[in-house]
Amino acid sequence: MTTEEVLTIFEENQALLKGHFLLSSGLHSSRYLQCALVLQHPRVAEKLCVELAAKAKADANIGQIDLVIAPALGGVFVAHEVARALGVRALFTERQEKVMTLRRGFSIQPGERCLVVEDVVTTGGSTREVMEVVAALGGVTVGAGSLIDRSGGAVDLGVPRHALAVLEVPTYKPEECPMCKEGSKAIKPGSRQ
Ligand code: ZN
Repeated sequence: MTTEEVLTIFEENQALLKGHFLLSSGLHSSRYLQCALVLQHPRVAEKLCVELAAKAKADANIGQIDLVIAPALGGVFVAHEVARALGVRALFTERQEKVMTLRRGFSIQPGERCLVVEDVVTTGGSTREVMEVVAALGGVTVGAGSLIDRSGGAVDLGVPRHALAVLEVPTYKPEECPMCKEGSKAIKPGSRQ
């Protein structure tokens, strides 16, 4: 699957919008990504995650994968579908009082080789937090993956990392936003206008 094919799937599901958006961070952007709108279709989620699983499996630097783990909520379905494709367990971490933790009786055995996945990597912060949980339990993060890499490939997690599509999405402070300068008004994604 090419980057174009992946992005077409996102655009067809209104999961990748073009326009002038006010992000929750307060910054403005010309693109907005909402993976849930793609993942709401299980067959599409499966198709994308089979691709991501294949990329991870084909990477000799990742090697054997014992389980897939993701941060809730965004990564849960990605972990589930990637794990299904690999025939391994799917786990997820959750924030408890802001600290990423493994709950619900999930366990990682010392030495287990973990693939950490997310729907979208922006800064890699959530993936890093999951990697810390894995390490604290004695597991080994052997690789990372996401459907979309919104960092333009810039995020370095210290392990092999794969994405189905790499996007460079510039964000602007409102006072420096070129679209504002052209007189258009930023809208909150999801609001119907
Ligand atoms: Zn703007």
